[in-house]
Amino acid sequence: MNLNLDDKKSWPIAFDKPLIIAGPCSAESEDQMLNIAHELKKYPNILFRAGIWKPRTRPNSFEGIGERALKWMDSVKKKTGLQTTTEVANAHHVEVALKHDIDVFWIGARTTVNPFAIQEIADALKGTNKPVMVKNPMNPDVNLWMGAIERLNAVGLTKIAAIHRGFFAYNNTKYRNLPQWQLAIELRRLIPGIPMICDPSHISGKRSLIQEVSQKAIDMNYDGLMIETHINPDKALSDNAQQVTPHQLDEILSSLIIRNSEIENNEFKSSLDELRIQIDDLDNELLDVLKRRMNVAEEIGIHKKEKGVTILQSARWEELLLSRINHGVKNGLSEDFMSKLLKAIHQESINRQIKVMN
Ligand code: PEP
Ligand code: MN
Repeated sequence: MNLNLDDKKSWPIAFDKPLIIAGPCSAESEDQMLNIAHELKKYPNILFRAGIWKPRTRPNSFEGIGERALKWMDSVKKKTGLQTTTEVANAHHVEVALKHDIDVFWIGARTTVNPFAIQEIADALKGTNKPVMVKNPMNPDVNLWMGAIERLNAVGLTKIAAIHRGFFAYNNTKYRNLPQWQLAIELRRLIPGIPMICDPSHISGKRSLIQEVSQKAIDMNYDGLMIETHINPDKALSDNAQQVTPHQLDEILSSLIIRNSEIENNEFKSSLDELRIQIDDLDNELLDVLKRRMNVAEEIGIHKKEKGVTILQSARWEELLLSRINHGVKNGLSEDFMSKLLKAIHQESINRQIKVMN
């Protein structure tokens, strides 16, 4: 399907410099919002965010203030002049948010996965030409992300941006949500020119990582950053580990190295950077898999200890080595490399099991 999107320049907000979307994960009180907004209004290029309806994994956590907080969004706008954005997840949210003149809507990762919900939101937005930012779905599926954008575009919305917030990580990893940068690169390839915003807060899950992820996004020529900001992050009612204070936001933003257009035009440099970022991602995944493999090896060690069995069973090792080498060779890896790699992994597993046994 061909998309018909407006140029970035026609948005009510400017994407260059880059655009900063900041504000709390959740609206908590009018004072909380105004305090943050007053700290943020000094930035030239800022959109104020706050979640009003919070999609929480378990029902016993704070699920947002709801409709009441829309008035506080009005206050922010009136008292600071900032433009505002909030998450909408169904037609009712859209209806009431439209009445309060929210400038930009965003669709959350848990909604992007659901074509029915997206269609309902699209239908409710028909005829408004509201700018909408679509977060990637929880699962690493570019088609689902693309599909949501297509559904919105099909009802006549032409100001659509993408927010890259990372993908569900099954195991404990460095990140709360795996960035999988290559998927955002793929979306940009499919929809050239779509404004691409990075949400380093939800990728990182902890504030110490936000600077690093933001810099990567800037190096990849993203158009904006969405960074959750709270006056007192530790006391925040949601996502407290990843929110930053306005002062920390300042530090993050002033540390960013913004690539100048000369380098931007240097195709070689930017494709090299994209590839390097993919390598970083893949190495992260490799290390996570290795960690999981070692944990399983330890469990086997415990069983062997209970049953009084030796660590090394030569037949099993022989069979494993041969089958993996074959697999690797079929995938274009050399026999020598496969053999060295497997022996190193095997040795580390044995070391772990020896530790467990003794
Ligand atoms: C949020 O931005 O606070 C949020 C709920 O994001 P996501 O949909 O990315 O989880
Ligand atoms: Mn959040």
